[in-house]
Amino acid sequence: MWIDCRTIARSIEERTKERVEKLGFTPKLVSVACTDDPSALSYLKSQRKKAEKLGIAFEILNVSPEEIVSTLKKLGSDESVNGVFVARPFPPSFDEKEILSSVPVEKDVEGVNPANLGLLLYDEEIFPPCTAEAAVRILERETNLSGKRVTVVGRSVTVGKPLALMLLKKGRDATVTVCHSRTVNLEEITKNSDIVVVAVGRAHFLKKNMVKEGAIVIDVGINYVDGKLQGDVDPSVEEIARVTPVPGGVGQVTTALLFEHVVRAAERQRK
Ligand code: NDP
Repeated sequence: MWIDCRTIARSIEERTKERVEKLGFTPKLVSVACTDDPSALSYLKSQRKKAEKLGIAFEILNVSPEEIVSTLKKLGSDESVNGVFVARPFPPSFDEKEILSSVPVEKDVEGVNPANLGLLLYDEEIFPPCTAEAAVRILERETNLSGKRVTVVGRSVTVGKPLALMLLKKGRDATVTVCHSRTVNLEEITKNSDIVVVAVGRAHFLKKNMVKEGAIVIDVGINYVDGKLQGDVDPSVEEIARVTPVPGGVGQVTTALLFEHVVRAAERQRK
């Protein structure tokens, strides 16, 4: 069975729109870009569309590699800006940690600044990373996480690690296993899990024989194969498990949450 993520994304967006109307001013998101990566550019395009729909002002700043850190720092003191997003991936020569540390913490709507990520260790979530939060929101709609055996495949700073911490959070109380490319007997681990989240970046990586019947599977993957978007989960898994689709799954909820965070940042800054 496919999990209906569209409805989840729409309901987040509806609440965001209502909150924008109550704010009394137009909140603003600025996306800083120093990339010609096609998927990053297409994400910026979809941000523009979504911002228009939600009544949020949106600007893209195209900057040179030398300008990126200073631009981010300046945006911190610009009172007309409520949220700051940085387009990734960065070219290999970039110091990712330095750049992300320069995203103003209180405007870090994507939750990428190490200061925001660090709060997850304390079970605090001011701006959790949007994709990890999307996975959690979807899971909480589908099940009670307490005591569930969850396997997260992928240990990136963007998705896998923060997600594992968020699932472990007191109150959510999942039992979490994190797997990666050196994991031995991955199939045995995923097959014994109530929930599997796949954030690997390989098309159709998780096969039906790796999943327990009745499990919930969250597909984070974005892979372009012959120009077609495919997830990390083989479509046949849907025959035995509840699976988020790609496209139309985690990605939609992720974008909806980014804008929810912009409004939350604006509400805080107004106070
Ligand atoms: P990374 O490349 O940073 O991480 C991939 C992870 O997968 C690594 O931890 C790697 O292990 C692990 N891995 C690779 N091969 C295997 C294997 N054979 N068995 C088990 N684990 C393996 O990717 P991201 O986390 O940034 O992204 C993952 C996917 O999610 C990508 O397709 C990306 O495009 C997508 N994505 C989607 C988003 C959305 O909103 N829907 C947002 C962000 C990402 P190791 O650490 O050992 O190398």
